[in-house]
Amino acid sequence: MTDAPLILAVAVPSPLYRSFDYLAPANHRGAPPVPGVRVRVPFGRREVVGVLLAVRQHTDVARAKLKPALEILDHAPVFDPKLLQLLEWAAGYYHHPIGDVVSTALPVLLRKPGTQAQAQIEIWTLTEQGRAQSPREPGRAARQARVMMQLQQQPAGLARDALDAPLSVLRTLRDKGWIRSEMVSRQTAPGAVGGDSGSAHALSDAQQQAVDAVKSAFGNFQALLLDGVTGSGKTEVYLHLIEPLLAEGRQVLVLVPEIGLTPQLVDRFQHRFGVAIAVMHSGLNDTQRLHAWQQAAAGRAPLVLGTRSAIFTPLARPGLIIVDEEHDPSLKQQEGFRYSARDLAVWRGRQLNIPVLLGSATPSLESLFNVQQGRYRHLHLPERAGTAAPPAMRLLDLRNQPMRDLLSKPLIDAMSWHLARDGQVLLFLNRRGFAPVLLCHACGWVAECSRCDARMTLHQRSGALRCHHCGSQRRIDVSCPTCGGSKLIGIGEGTERIEEVLLERFPEHRVLRIDRDTTRRKGQLDEALDDARSGRARILLGTQMLAKGHHFPAVSLAAILDADQGLFSADFRASERMAQLIIQVAGRAGRAEKPGEVIIQTHQPDHPLLHQLVGQGYAAFAAAALQERCETLLPPFASLAILRAEAPQAQAPQAFLDAARTAAEPLAGEQVQIWGPVAAPMERRAGRYRAQLLFQAQERVALQGLLNALMPQLENSKSARRVRWSIDVDPVDTF
Ligand code: ADP
Ligand code: ZN
Ligand code: ZN
Repeated sequence: MTDAPLILAVAVPSPLYRSFDYLAPANHRGAPPVPGVRVRVPFGRREVVGVLLAVRQHTDVARAKLKPALEILDHAPVFDPKLLQLLEWAAGYYHHPIGDVVSTALPVLLRKPGTQAQAQIEIWTLTEQGRAQSPREPGRAARQARVMMQLQQQPAGLARDALDAPLSVLRTLRDKGWIRSEMVSRQTAPGAVGGDSGSAHALSDAQQQAVDAVKSAFGNFQALLLDGVTGSGKTEVYLHLIEPLLAEGRQVLVLVPEIGLTPQLVDRFQHRFGVAIAVMHSGLNDTQRLHAWQQAAAGRAPLVLGTRSAIFTPLARPGLIIVDEEHDPSLKQQEGFRYSARDLAVWRGRQLNIPVLLGSATPSLESLFNVQQGRYRHLHLPERAGTAAPPAMRLLDLRNQPMRDLLSKPLIDAMSWHLARDGQVLLFLNRRGFAPVLLCHACGWVAECSRCDARMTLHQRSGALRCHHCGSQRRIDVSCPTCGGSKLIGIGEGTERIEEVLLERFPEHRVLRIDRDTTRRKGQLDEALDDARSGRARILLGTQMLAKGHHFPAVSLAAILDADQGLFSADFRASERMAQLIIQVAGRAGRAEKPGEVIIQTHQPDHPLLHQLVGQGYAAFAAAALQERCETLLPPFASLAILRAEAPQAQAPQAFLDAARTAAEPLAGEQVQIWGPVAAPMERRAGRYRAQLLFQAQERVALQGLLNALMPQLENSKSARRVRWSIDVDPVDTF
């Protein structure tokens, strides 16, 4: 036994690349606190909530400088040892400050000292008297009747957030003596039960093989790629895997790239299994997120479904991780802590010794490469499920076509044909707003953003010019600021303009536009997707929000209005993205009995990428693209990291990156190439000048070794104080 005081190593939310040492709180008695608990500590002049990483006997900090922590906030850790280890690993791999990593992984409410990590909740049940009532009695208020029916089906009771009623309705019923509530701890709170496993499909042979392959990996780590064409029944495979795990009391974590994809999946899971689902995405308020997190952590939610940050959800009894649409770039966080939820899922699966299933109709080249290397097992669903046939794709040569606003004559004809036969039509254009450019017809002036090297987008309906890069906006100019002329015209097409033309051209059909502008308010996206699914809206027009993963059974024609957009980008991933988007949009057509047709409008009908994709399909395209990456030594045949810097002064980012390059060169050896610094393709954004330095290595370890040595130097370098900088490991965008 020594008398040395306990030293607490705490991850503190700060931009610094290390943890901080504290003494145990003055009033702390008994056993040392366990790593993973939250700790309130003084930090500079503030008090902050950190997370305990380790308890030590020694520290390098001088005794006199050590401050005591103020309070241990939890009895039980909020992060179990494995999750804590995952976070520390991720902080190391992505070279991001541990304090910020830990804070990102915590629900917002737990970043404050007042919140209990293991909370109590209020559970409502029917009273004796309530059970004697008939909820459907005529004249009974509908909302009250619904609550009574819900509670009749769940004799163990339901939490407030599971009941479809405001508190006032619950109070009314309580005052009548029909329902009552009590506080119970989250761990023992009941979940809904029931569900309809009868709705399961008999699996096709390919589906069954996929299910068997994953099942045989239960209880062990294995990464598997479920490569199934759109509509091939991947979700059905997930459902068949989840079922036996739930029966064993195991939890399944499902990651999806977009919040818009969650309601549909939640519905499907709920309908099949009727279990409590913890849903985690940015559309929830802080309380809802905390509840979902607690339910998952306590093992009360057998199914946890969320967008990328859900990868950090504690799980009491994990059995399987599923990453749906694994190719989607949204699975990578693009600011702050730049992690890939897909890659962390694989890491976590290995750590937990459970299988990880990555699903996609258009797998990323990274995952296909991992299959080639024997690291992932390949599961293939080559055909659409049920009676649905693959859609017929064709390139529509726009050259010399009579057309108005991207709606060519052959496209209009095809739309009319499908609409007349009760088909739904889906049009894809990845540009919102009315027109991407506002131009003076007299002098050629173009409306530009004052804070970015970019043009303002014209939003006619709201009377505004908006910059899609920094968000700034202003009213549309009435006259040209240069020549005073009044003939200002919008050049080019955005979804808003196409919508206008459609309303004019197809007045008898309901047009539904889905993009960021029409789905800004909470609930609007769900509502719109409902309208699209139900078939009430006949012509669906939208950006990539509409293209991804949705199941619209009545769509028989899908069209890409402008395929040329993706063909000429500087990013080496642009063609992969374009191919994925085209196949995803195409996949919306003909998903039920109606045969589907896909039209791809282009001015480049001879472009080899489009040809190969349309003629031979995604797998052939991907094989060729992988070959090209191999020859050019780009990912997945090399590892990249980008050091970015920005500042209001044009010179500062360059100076910082020059210094970084000088520091990196002696560390790079033969193994790591350094490119740049160069100005970002859009140099100025939101009033800041941006530049970047690219590191490229054939071996991941060589790159990691360099970054390990470089980061501490950068953190302390003088030029770093004049810029905002970040490191992006495995970037999905190279600018
Ligand atoms: P994906 O996730 O690959 O896009 P889904 O699982 O959503 O595909 O399946 C597409 C459609 O086919 C859904 O309507 C689903 O109910 C149906 N389906 C899936 N598997 C089968 C099957 N084995 N037999 C009949 N229909 C199926
Ligand atoms: Zn002018
Ligand atoms: Zn701007």
